[in-house]
Amino acid sequence: VRRFHFSRISTLEELLAWKGKFGASGRPIAGGTDLIVGLREAAFDLPAIEVGDITAVPELKGIAAGAGGPDGTGCEIRVGPLATHSQVARHSEIGRRAALLAAGASEVGSPQIRNRGTIGGNICNASPCADTVPPLIALGAVLTLRSLRGARKLPLEEAILGPYRTAMEDDEVLTDICFPVPPEGSRSSFIKLGRRNALSISRMSIAVVSRLDGSGILRDVRVAGGSIASTPRRFRAVETVLEGNVPGDDLLAAAGDKMVAEMIRMTGRRWSTPYKEPVVASLLKRAVLQSIPRREK
Ligand SMILES: Cc1cc2nc3c(=O)[nH]c(=O)nc-3n(C[C@H](O)[C@H](O)[C@H](O)COP(=O)(O)OP(=O)(O)OC[C@H]3O[C@@H](n4cnc5c(N)ncnc54)[C@H](O)[C@@H]3O)c2cc1C
Repeated sequence: VRRFHFSRISTLEELLAWKGKFGASGRPIAGGTDLIVGLREAAFDLPAIEVGDITAVPELKGIAAGAGGPDGTGCEIRVGPLATHSQVARHSEIGRRAALLAAGASEVGSPQIRNRGTIGGNICNASPCADTVPPLIALGAVLTLRSLRGARKLPLEEAILGPYRTAMEDDEVLTDICFPVPPEGSRSSFIKLGRRNALSISRMSIAVVSRLDGSGILRDVRVAGGSIASTPRRFRAVETVLEGNVPGDDLLAAAGDKMVAEMIRMTGRRWSTPYKEPVVASLLKRAVLQSIPRREK
């Protein structure tokens, strides 16, 4: 394990001062399930590492939901970065109004990892296969990043620049994850294709939010994918194919073809493309079907 200096941080004020002082060398530790592995693998190319335990910082905790937002800023559901995957997966309001996020959180690792690992750590580590990220992108999540210089809001989709690379400045920390509740009547799904059933790191995942109107037409469709392009992202061209149409076999096939075409447009053809083509199309079809209520016969 890389040698590091360890400190305990108790307040947000202290955390911002600590991050301002140490910059990139200052690594907040939440659950440690990514950071400790990184330290063991000596993944950090830094002369010195300061590890700061943020688990006692009250401002980073909690999950709150409310009309107009718990803080009056239109942030309808606010998840503190220290919320563990287990807390997110079991939260009743998230289960009811953003089931795809509960599904993503409950797919992470194992019970031990879900009890320790946090949603903030999942985002800040920026792994291409982070399970909570596609659901949060489909929900339109916005991050609040704070430093001694002030606070700024950044859509999650723009915050992840590449594998293990975020748009966070060296002195910034993540303090809030906010998203609006999908329109009334929306349903959602999250499907992860792993290498193994247990403890699998996701190879590809798709998150869908949509709503069927009274005529059985798809509305307010959001599709996000993880490990399909170089960063987790929304697939707006696929949403356009689905939006305003009845979800039959032909439509799902056309949407699957569009998803594959988008993947190839973004990544080019690779050694893995022949495998990914049918898998991505079929994952999308399953995710859309799971997100719509079954028709009464
Ligand atoms: C065996 C195993 C299985 C796993 N399986 C999965 C899986 O199936 N799916 C999946 O998505 N992940 C998986 N992971 C990865 C990991 O558990 C998750 O990414 C987890 O959410 C990380 O959260 P953490 O609190 O442990 O992060 P930490 O390790 O504490 O931190 C991760 C990174 O984020 C930074 N950070 C944390 N909080 C903040 C903050 N508030 N502001 C700024 N920076 C911050 C840290 O400095 C560090 O760089 C697995 C890990 C292990 C060891």
